[in-house]
Amino acid sequence: MRINKNDQVLVLIGRNNGKKSRVISIDKENEKVTVEGVNIVHKFVRRSRRNPQGGRLSMEMPVSVSNVQLICPFCSQPTRVGFRFDADGTKYRVCKKCKADINIISRSKKKITKSPK
Ligand SMILES: [Zn+2]
Repeated sequence: MRINKNDQVLVLIGRNNGKKSRVISIDKENEKVTVEGVNIVHKFVRRSRRNPQGGRLSMEMPVSVSNVQLICPFCSQPTRVGFRFDADGTKYRVCKKCKADINIISRSKKKITKSPK
C-alpha cells in the first residue's frame, strides 16, 4: 500500500474532489482507504435501546486508494509515492517530487537481533 493511516491525502473523486484530508483507516486487502470527511453516507437509524433518539448517523465510506494522492509532508505537494531500498535492505517510501524519504516501511531483517535472555 502506498498510503498509510494518518497520511494527508488529496482526494481526486466525487463531491470531495480536491479536498485535502487525513486517512483514518486503511484496508490493505481491498486497497481502500477511509478519509476523514470524505465520501460520507447518512444512515437512518430507528429508535432502539442503543439509539433512543434514532435519527441520522453519518459515517465515512472507504474509497479506492487510486482515488487519493499522498501529500508529501516535506514539499507539501500531492505526489506519487515511490519506494527505495537502502544498501542494508531497509525499505523507504519516497516522494517522487522532492525525493525525500517519507517513512520507513520495513527495516532490514539483518539488523533485527533478539536480545539474549
Ligand atoms: Zn515531497
